[in-house]
Amino acid sequence: MKRLIYLALIASLAIILSSCVTTPIKPPITPAKEIYPQTAMPVLRQDVSHIVGPGETLWRISKMYNVPIKDISSANNLKTQTLGKGQRLLIPNAAPIVPVIPLYPSKKWKYIVIHHSATDEGNSLYFDKYHQGKGWGGIGYHFVIDNGTKEKQDGQIEVSPRWIKQEGGSHCRASNMNEKAIGICLVGNFNREYVSSKQLDALVYLVNILRKYYKIPLKRIIGHNQVLGARTECPGKNFPWPRFKNSL
Ligand SMILES: [Zn+2]
Repeated sequence: MKRLIYLALIASLAIILSSCVTTPIKPPITPAKEIYPQTAMPVLRQDVSHIVGPGETLWRISKMYNVPIKDISSANNLKTQTLGKGQRLLIPNAAPIVPVIPLYPSKKWKYIVIHHSATDEGNSLYFDKYHQGKGWGGIGYHFVIDNGTKEKQDGQIEVSPRWIKQEGGSHCRASNMNEKAIGICLVGNFNREYVSSKQLDALVYLVNILRKYYKIPLKRIIGHNQVLGARTECPGKNFPWPRFKNSL
């Protein structure tokens, strides 16, 4: 019996020690800049559940919730720092989620093309599976702005692996936009529904960061349906163009 307790103690000590080992995690390409709102004001912290989206690393999730990597590792008994898509994590003592937008020096990005998902629900993980099934090699957009469905918050900005790897998109073949446009998808069908105010705020926030960094003129911020040769209603007839453009 004593021997069993001794073995159990050794095993739990090994787990604790292994979860304390942290090596710094870097994204695949180191961004030149990373934009995320920081506040000195006290915020309400709570334990939250997070489903790992495509391209998300411990390093990114740690910044999103302002929780040290080692705290996330030990709360989830992680043996490795590699996360799987769809893995559920407990984020202990998490601050309200903030977008973390990495920026990479590039001359490639000349346009921003805005899409809707044409679905009522969705998130980056959901589109990743769908686009994988179409043979597009995973999610075709660079960013997704959620609408509060599929366990994401209304107005949450998700960064796709294509952006982190600085790859062309699979969102608009017309006019070769896949190679020169940053593709942003808002979850929703805006032929029937309306862009929520949190989604619009998030879109304005994201587009302003991108257009300033890549020096993209306002006239090159367009809807999918405004691309020459694209036959689509995307991002839907209810997309609030005047409100959006006036907010930039
Ligand atoms: Zn589209």
